[in-house]
Amino acid sequence: MDNELKEKIAKLQEMIDGTDNIVFFGGAGVSTESGIPDFRSQDGLYNQKYDYPPETILSHSFFMRNTAEFYRFYKEKILLVGTDMAPEPNRAHLKLAELEKAGKLKAVITQNIDDLHHRAGSKTIYELHGTVTRNYCMDCDKEFDVDYVKACDGVPKCDVCGGIVKPDVVLYEEGLDMYTMDQSIQAIKNADMLIIGGTSLVVYPAAGLIDYYRGNKLVLINKGTTGREAGADLVINGPIGEVLGAIEVKS
Ligand SMILES: [Zn+2]
Repeated sequence: MDNELKEKIAKLQEMIDGTDNIVFFGGAGVSTESGIPDFRSQDGLYNQKYDYPPETILSHSFFMRNTAEFYRFYKEKILLVGTDMAPEPNRAHLKLAELEKAGKLKAVITQNIDDLHHRAGSKTIYELHGTVTRNYCMDCDKEFDVDYVKACDGVPKCDVCGGIVKPDVVLYEEGLDMYTMDQSIQAIKNADMLIIGGTSLVVYPAAGLIDYYRGNKLVLINKGTTGREAGADLVINGPIGEVLGAIEVKS
């Protein structure tokens, strides 16, 4: 770790020590450090076996029109829960759970659907894009767990009415859940310290949500540069797992 990064982590430690009202907002970068590819970045993995780009497959219209092909991709690339390729929470997820347990962090807001914050032990989590762990029948609304979806061959169908089971994740062309958005906005408005990690901040809804923050402890942690560094009180260009992993939790 170079000296500049060390100094910045020391500054982050100081800011965290001085508050018990932190909200964390995380993007895809939090999950990529657990080995989950960011399907928004066109990397090779996704382009090998499919006739369409991931943005097309993971869209509402594609789901409706081509459900079998959607599920082929979804089960192979997204739904890794419980398989040998199942991702594990990384140091960022674990540290956030620890900060919440110590009474210092009030909420995690995430754009990821992989359930890793839950698995790391976080309790108050606002999943802006839903989660793979919830699934429901499009006709009768019955809920199904992830094992049910995995056990179905091809397109999962409801065991009551035969309707198509859809993951409770926000696909492209779909709107965000307003309740989750409202909860996230309230958490950000009331936060003393806002830590944003693993997102470039240029994508909706991240960019808009941050405008609700009124405090003077805005921290950005991202490997690359973000679109909003000028307004931040501390910018750390480093891997989020390494940065948060270095924080000591004092209650
Ligand atoms: Zn049904």
